[in-house]
Amino acid sequence: SYRKGGYHAVRVADTFASGRYIAQRKLGWGQFSTVWLAYDTQTEAYVALKIQKSAPEFAQSALHEIEVLSAITNGDPTNSKCVVRLIEHFKHVGPNGQHWCMVLEFLGDNILRLIRYNRYKGLEMNKVREICKCVLTGLDYLHRELSLIHTDLKPENILLLSTINSSKDPIKSKMTPILEKPEGVPNGSAAMTAIERRLKQRARRAVATISTKRGGFVTAPKPPRCLDGIDMNCKIVDFGNACWESKKFAEEIQTRQYRAPEVILQSDYSYSADMWSFACTAFELATGEMMFAPKGTQGFSEDEDHLALMMELLGKMPRKIAIGGRRSKDYFDRHGDLKRIRRLKYCPLDRLLVDKFKLSNTDARELAEFLCPILDFAPEKRPTAQQCLQHPWLNMKNPV
Ligand code: ADP
Ligand code: MG
Repeated sequence: SYRKGGYHAVRVADTFASGRYIAQRKLGWGQFSTVWLAYDTQTEAYVALKIQKSAPEFAQSALHEIEVLSAITNGDPTNSKCVVRLIEHFKHVGPNGQHWCMVLEFLGDNILRLIRYNRYKGLEMNKVREICKCVLTGLDYLHRELSLIHTDLKPENILLLSTINSSKDPIKSKMTPILEKPEGVPNGSAAMTAIERRLKQRARRAVATISTKRGGFVTAPKPPRCLDGIDMNCKIVDFGNACWESKKFAEEIQTRQYRAPEVILQSDYSYSADMWSFACTAFELATGEMMFAPKGTQGFSEDEDHLALMMELLGKMPRKIAIGGRRSKDYFDRHGDLKRIRRLKYCPLDRLLVDKFKLSNTDARELAEFLCPILDFAPEKRPTAQQCLQHPWLNMKNPV
């Protein structure tokens, strides 16, 4: 992918925007971009630099993302809506072409890394509530004030706030090494070379942590690590796939496990598709496991497996909804029963939370009462983010 039209190759200490930003280490990557931690010499703070692949289709999607991010940032002057902020954007010319670059506020680790860090045990319920509040605040803002659908909400796209720019960062110091700021060090000097070497070593270590595979621990499970005293503030990121409610581009949206039933069946989707992904994400925070992980084995597809898993947990899909989508005929007969998967093993959410995930009866009942309405098969019956924010569950508190 590092060729004409593809990614821009970055090395530690490369500069951007006429020397304003200095690359520190790679933070992550997606299909379209690489994201680097960069030092902003003008504000003397860290930023995230998202560098898009250069081919025209990637440039076009970067411009769309910039348009969305600008609307998001302009509509939130007090920075209180739990969505990432765009600082500026520019074009960078490299050997592979012209790359659109987005300068974003630097945030911390994503929530999936938090779940991994906690050894897939599920987070403490009070922390789950805090994260849910932030995500709902962000969704309410996107939906109600901007008419935007995120379309790819999931733990990877929810980032903890980093306090690296201000003082000590509890998460950073536990999970990834803190960087020193290379201020006032002339390029090419012996001191700068030493800093570069150190940063490279740390970057390598950070990459090693990131590449730890998602999946079970085969040996005896270690107890979850202590996350005490860590404030769970977070923000929604990745607006590359976001769309305006009135101007959708894709029929198939969302990452598989977080995909709403109306998207699978190709009925129409709207803001409520984000709400479905939100409920799947909240479940994963509380249990450490994905709510639906369809596999699609011999004889039936991932879509059919997915629909079956949904019904096993949430009950039979109402016939009108089951047969109402443009793809319904592929999966359902005219009675609204799955064509190829006939025997379903029903297990309601509260029972699953107790039996499989060992939540207390009270925690399980309360969480299920919060989540089940959001997982209504009828999209228009799901509560909005604004309505969810009023739910008493968010303000309950378990004794610590
Ligand atoms: P893509 O659209 O290519 O998927 P994302 O916007 O999701 O790109 O970014 C890819 C990864 O880069 C994220 O999963 C995250 O690890 C990291 N990242 C993105 N934005 C930030 C940010 N503002 N602060 C810190 N890390 C970020
Ligand atoms: Mg992404």
